[in-house]
Amino acid sequence: MTDRLTQARDLQAEMVEHRRHLHAEPEVGLDLPDTSAYVERVLRDCGLEPERHPGAGVTAHIRGSHGVGPVTVLRSDMDALPLEEETALPFSSRRRGAMHACGHDLHMAMLLGAAKCLVETPPADDVVVVFQPGEESDRGAVPTLAAHRNLDIADARAFAIHVHATWPAHSINHTAGTFMAYGDWFRVDFTGPGGHASQPQLAGNPVEAGAHFVLAARELVASLSAEEHLVATVTESVMGNTVNVIPAHGRLRGTIRTLSPTQRQNLVSGLRRLASAAADRTGTQAAFQLIEGYPAVVNDAAYVERLVAAVGRTSLGPGLAAMSAPSMVIEDFAYFLQQWPGAMVYLGAQVEGSSAFNHAPDAVFDEAVLTTGAALHLMAADGF
Ligand SMILES: [Zn+2]
Ligand SMILES: [Zn+2]
Repeated sequence: MTDRLTQARDLQAEMVEHRRHLHAEPEVGLDLPDTSAYVERVLRDCGLEPERHPGAGVTAHIRGSHGVGPVTVLRSDMDALPLEEETALPFSSRRRGAMHACGHDLHMAMLLGAAKCLVETPPADDVVVVFQPGEESDRGAVPTLAAHRNLDIADARAFAIHVHATWPAHSINHTAGTFMAYGDWFRVDFTGPGGHASQPQLAGNPVEAGAHFVLAARELVASLSAEEHLVATVTESVMGNTVNVIPAHGRLRGTIRTLSPTQRQNLVSGLRRLASAAADRTGTQAAFQLIEGYPAVVNDAAYVERLVAAVGRTSLGPGLAAMSAPSMVIEDFAYFLQQWPGAMVYLGAQVEGSSAFNHAPDAVFDEAVLTTGAALHLMAADGF
């Protein structure tokens, strides 16, 4: 068998070049014209014929030597975050208000490296490499899966990597089943008559309703998370604008993260109940709204088992780390795993001494992990 790790190692310098270029020129959201053009050009230079759609990224089909088994879908995201970079790296963002703080620049570089190796030494079965925009909050996986003829596949296995800025570099962190959480948002509007601050007995007060709700929600989360980890965090409160008027309206918004459909349902109905109770106690009306976010990333247990066994047979084996609990982060690779079985893993990429997590303006990632990431993609292409 081809030594995929050596192949990946030989491309390290080239991947670093891709990474630094992409890092310096970040684009946010679904529309990433420069990033897409760069990825398309590199894939073309490898001898591939990429398929590109505005707002839906770039894919390329790589023919396998036999091409009878399931297709391997290898996915990278491409978008940056609306942040001002504070890393002081020599290849820092040249675009104001945009930064690759989640490591998607590394994801692209490692997959571009892997694509080149796969063209040079094809795996047995076909591979589709996917570069998708709009992961952070635009659900870019959905238009990407819909737009590409390359992804019109019945039988496939999907694999993706996410770098982690505060886990040891080269560690391969895996879990079977739920890998990342369901993510939703909520909004509660409290409406009261409002009135003069000197006559609280006459006016339903949304501020008091909000206070009741926030504290009761914390207790509810504490009681439910005795069984399974979950989150409901109130992150925004917009109520009143002066000292002597009881406002007629107040709004709370927040984030929900859960690990199973049952917990999700229990938490949402609990929050809805608490909103009504808070309104009843304070002479206000409550309107609770759930804004559905991302489904959970659910890894296929058998696939993860094969991955662990295959990686264990290589010199990357000592890096394997079973996660003690799923991550409460959300990821739209969830949509790929709803379509085909497969898995996502976290690749540790900590730079020694740095404690800034992904999304921080000073988040940095160890470029040496590009080799490990490309090797993982190559092993996935070989069916682990
Ligand atoms: Zn992110
Ligand atoms: Zn990310």
